[in-house]
Amino acid sequence: MVKQYQKHAKMLQALSHPVRLQILDILSRSPACVCDLVFQTRQRQAYISQHLMLLREAGMVRSTRLGVKNQYELAHPEEMTNLLNCLLEVQQPKPSDQGATKMSNTNNNAVWHGIPRDQIDWHPAIVAERCVGCGLCVTSCGRGVYAFDYEANKPAIVAPQMCMVGCTTCATICLQDAVEFPSRGYIRQVIRQNKLLTQSKNLLKENRQKYDVVARQAVNA
Ligand code: SF4
Ligand code: SF4
Repeated sequence: MVKQYQKHAKMLQALSHPVRLQILDILSRSPACVCDLVFQTRQRQAYISQHLMLLREAGMVRSTRLGVKNQYELAHPEEMTNLLNCLLEVQQPKPSDQGATKMSNTNNNAVWHGIPRDQIDWHPAIVAERCVGCGLCVTSCGRGVYAFDYEANKPAIVAPQMCMVGCTTCATICLQDAVEFPSRGYIRQVIRQNKLLTQSKNLLKENRQKYDVVARQAVNA
């Protein structure tokens, strides 16, 4: 009799850790490889792999081999997403409360193609061991994403949501390869899930005067 509840007990045990909940929450938005999860949770790879193994054993996550990487996704997306929504809704402050606790320069009301910016996890992360403190990322970003920690001689990310979605300029110009971003796969998933190609085609149609090459050339002549 007790046996039939063992599977459920294992699942509840798997849910009882904040990092595993965070991993499930991330996977409920899109599949991800370990490096995406490491980036988004800011945890070590070995630590994330350990939690992923537990989630797999509990039957909550499955993985698929994609080239040299494993891609992880929820084993039962609909059920898991509903369960997470119930759990996280209870735990998290309402959107109206969140604004008050955020920093004033995080652009709280920003949207990207209609998606609230705070739902898109796109911003740089600094690999401190590789960074030599030249400050080029800080002085090149025109959006105020960075400040400089003069004590530590390292850049600091102070306004992550000001980073332009899809932009990787600071990573490109860092000679030490010390700036990292989520994978291109992550942002492409956001584009697909939100049907942004259709939206873009509609915008082109509706705003011909704004985008038309002939009209633009005439303005710039
Ligand atoms: S450009 Fe690279 S090395 Fe220079 S401060 Fe930024 S992260 Fe560090
Ligand atoms: S990617 Fe572009 S917008 Fe984002 S922090 Fe780097 S330079 Fe700034």
